[in-house]
Amino acid sequence: MAVMKFIPEALKNLFRQPVTTSYPFEPAEYPERARGHIEITIDDCIGCGMCTRACPLGALKVDKNEGTWEIDRFDCVVCGYCVEKCPKKCLRTAPGYQEPEPGKTSQLYKKSEEALRLEAEKKAEAARKAAEAKAAMEAKKKAEQSSAEA
Ligand code: SF4
Ligand code: SF4
Repeated sequence: MAVMKFIPEALKNLFRQPVTTSYPFEPAEYPERARGHIEITIDDCIGCGMCTRACPLGALKVDKNEGTWEIDRFDCVVCGYCVEKCPKKCLRTAPGYQEPEPGKTSQLYKKSEEALRLEAEKKAEAARKAAEAKAAMEAKKKAEQSSAEA
């Protein structure tokens, strides 16, 4: 009888763990290289905008002056182009998918006060050095002019 063939398999299955999971009641397990969603280490971002230019969906907005980076997770298809293009390597794909919501929402990340303060200090230092270099150049020019006139 054909049905007899299935009896050993049916008996084995009685003692096996189920292959399905009870998600969402148990946390989901993702494969190691799953492209779930995009994450950013915002304090490392320099606001260059390379990611926004690389994004084929226009899902990203960067404001260098405000120190913000914004992603519309409902537009993002997790292609990973922005991750590839970021010169500071502060973008990455991470496990976990966007949960459904009644409307499209975006997620805004803002640099910490400490990171903004350090950036402002660096800018001020660069401006001071540039002003010093300019003054030195002008002084050198003046000295050359006066020695040529003498
Ligand atoms: S993963 Fe692709 S679609 Fe998503 S923000 Fe980056 S470039 Fe845009
Ligand atoms: S490419 Fe990287 S460093 Fe440049 S704005 Fe995007 S996240 Fe920031």
